Amino acid sequence: MADARVFDAVVVGLGCMGAAACLELARKGKRVLGLERFAVGHGRGSSHGGSRIIRECYFEHPDYVPLLLQCRQGWDRLELESGERLVHRCGLLYASGPGGVVVRNSFENGRRHGVACERWTAADAMRRFGQFRLPSDWEALFEPAAGFVRPERAVQASVRRACELGAQVREGVTVLHWSEQGGGVRVSTSAGEFEAGSLLLTAGPWMPGLAAALGVPLQPQRVVIAWLGPREPASCSSDRMPAWYLDRPGSSGLYGIPTAVDQGEPGGVKVASHGDGTAVDPERVPSVVPQELEAIRAATEGFLPCAAGSVQAGTTCLYTMSPDGHFVVDRMPGCQRSFAACGFSGHGFKFMPVMGRALADLACHGETSLPIRFLNAGRFARAS
Ligand SMILES: Cc1cc2nc3c(=O)[nH]c(=O)nc-3n(C[C@H](O)[C@H](O)[C@H](O)COP(=O)(O)OP(=O)(O)OC[C@H]3O[C@@H](n4cnc5c(N)ncnc54)[C@H](O)[C@@H]3O)c2cc1C
Repeated sequence: MADARVFDAVVVGLGCMGAAACLELARKGKRVLGLERFAVGHGRGSSHGGSRIIRECYFEHPDYVPLLLQCRQGWDRLELESGERLVHRCGLLYASGPGGVVVRNSFENGRRHGVACERWTAADAMRRFGQFRLPSDWEALFEPAAGFVRPERAVQASVRRACELGAQVREGVTVLHWSEQGGGVRVSTSAGEFEAGSLLLTAGPWMPGLAAALGVPLQPQRVVIAWLGPREPASCSSDRMPAWYLDRPGSSGLYGIPTAVDQGEPGGVKVASHGDGTAVDPERVPSVVPQELEAIRAATEGFLPCAAGSVQAGTTCLYTMSPDGHFVVDRMPGCQRSFAACGFSGHGFKFMPVMGRALADLACHGETSLPIRFLNAGRFARAS
């Protein structure tokens, strides 16, 4: 009989990246153990908050687009297998003020890879989506196949499916140490020791404690999310309003996600800003205060008055910033069988399906044919 503590692969942390990796390893028929210190789908890391924008016109770097094109099928498959609706393709409206690069870069990077999108003036955008108030010197981009995904449901559906395919998942188990030895990996946890042929470290904001040897200074950041009660509910639902990202001159990006029938609690339009998080210890994250939520409501009012009724709810979520804002996916230095995927810098969720595949490849073969080389950790050593 197989030893109950020996696995082909151990995955540490079941946020979106670890959950996806477990699922792909289980699909490959591997004996995989997923370890999560809290409950799957919890709200203390980075993969909660009811919705995540998915898009393919990627302003951050053109090399992400081929990876995103691989995700379409992955979301469809997860929806099919789970029997749950996870994705809403309501479109995404990007708008940039003078000097902003989001519309221009998104358009160029998307078009280079054949992503359908339309570049508009501010007036065009307001004609098409009358809910928005954009200054006349702004420009806009509409990506019709973009939209949003339900993060907790996607994580839970992946873990559930992985378990159906034979994966073992242990919740409430904290990984304390790991080391490579004797052709395998030994993992010490709050529930004892496990052995594995390979190790995937996907611990989000807790990676600095588990993967210090990576040598990449990762910074967890606290970000605030608000849900606003719409003044005009019908104008703010996903059948009439796209998701949106406003590239405000001299300020952080402001983005939002419309309401939808399957939303559950909290209701309302979800709004947050990107690029003004504050450094934080993930063990001690200050709770959200009313002034922070009111600031988000007030910022929304100027651009989208129909959405900016009263604040309904708010919470915090964590980014894990890498020094250049790009992901880090690589083998741990000096290791053969241990890999890290981290520094998703507030834009990783939409890559969940393809990251799962890349990580499963790394765990099984030590390499992947997916184009992730630009995410290597060595770039920071070269830069310093
Ligand atoms: C407010 C907000 C909005 C965002 N919006 C978007 C968006 O619209 N689109 C998009 O693509 N991305 C978005 N992101 C980014 C995206 O959500 C993250 O990049 C992604 O969720 C990172 O997932 P992860 O699996 O790396 O980390 P996490 O989800 O944090 O998962 C790490 C897991 O590891 C577990 N863990 C940690 N240490 C241990 C240990 N020692 N032992 C066992 N388990 C451990 C944790 O409990 C956690 O469950 C947003 C993020 C935030 C915070």
